[in-house]
Amino acid sequence: MILNAFNLEGKIALVTGCNTGLGQGMALGLAQAGCDIVGVNREEPAETQQRVEALGRRFWSLQADLIRTEQVPRVVEQAIAAAGKIDILVNNAGIIRREDALSFSEQDWDDVMNINTKSVFFLSQQVARHFIAQGQGGKIINIASMLSFQGGIRVPSYTASKSAVMGLTRLMANEWAKHGINVNAIAPGYMATNNTEQLRSDEGRSAEILGRIPAERWGLPEDMMGPVVFLASSASDYVNGYTLAVDGGWLAR
Ligand code: NAP
Repeated sequence: MILNAFNLEGKIALVTGCNTGLGQGMALGLAQAGCDIVGVNREEPAETQQRVEALGRRFWSLQADLIRTEQVPRVVEQAIAAAGKIDILVNNAGIIRREDALSFSEQDWDDVMNINTKSVFFLSQQVARHFIAQGQGGKIINIASMLSFQGGIRVPSYTASKSAVMGLTRLMANEWAKHGINVNAIAPGYMATNNTEQLRSDEGRSAEILGRIPAERWGLPEDMMGPVVFLASSASDYVNGYTLAVDGGWLAR
């Protein structure tokens, strides 16, 4: 039956940046669908751990600073040592730095590219090697953005990093589909999290954004639950290299 295809019982999902925001929403959605979770964060994600465990699922907490891309191989080794395997990778951790392109610094370029793009690629590479060794395929879900499709303003490294995420999602899907690995992305629209706090506290900018969203509201972490469970489950086995917008219709305007 088709609803059984969405059941993730017995699966292990590694989710980066799940202490708050969209990562927390996706970890909880995956746990509700039956997954046990390996969370990768800078600090202990106490609230997420408690909420996952309250659903009757297991939670393993790993610490890493994903700006430091050399930490990536150890993260995957530790996840497999703790949970025994990985079935699903959600590359969620990400940052944004806002400054005019004319004065944007190299540090703000490198930090954003390191976490949003370089760690995403090398984490995916490590996990794909594990999927291939395991011989049962796997699911990789990257978090793109409206700025994978549009230019944006005052966020040059973010636009570069998220445009790269959409391209890499296609490349990895092309190379790994033959191993039963699905690589797809979710492009959230304007969501109410720490990432958009600055935008939402600027009255003019906030009204401008809201006025353009057909759904007439900012997105919430819960809006990510259905899409991530779909892309993590066998219901999406023939979906490869696609970036799914979860944007209340923003891109349709
Ligand atoms: P958020 O609340 O700021 O969450 C970002 C997550 O990334 C947090 O868990 C954060 O942990 C983690 N993180 C940041 N720097 C890290 C590092 N160096 N190492 C490890 N983890 C780190 O923002 P969000 O909106 O939920 O963002 C989640 C993803 O969605 C990001 O990739 C973001 O670009 C993307 N996105 C968001 C929106 C939106 O409108 N909110 C739209 C499109 C795409 P700490 O709490 O420790 O910083």
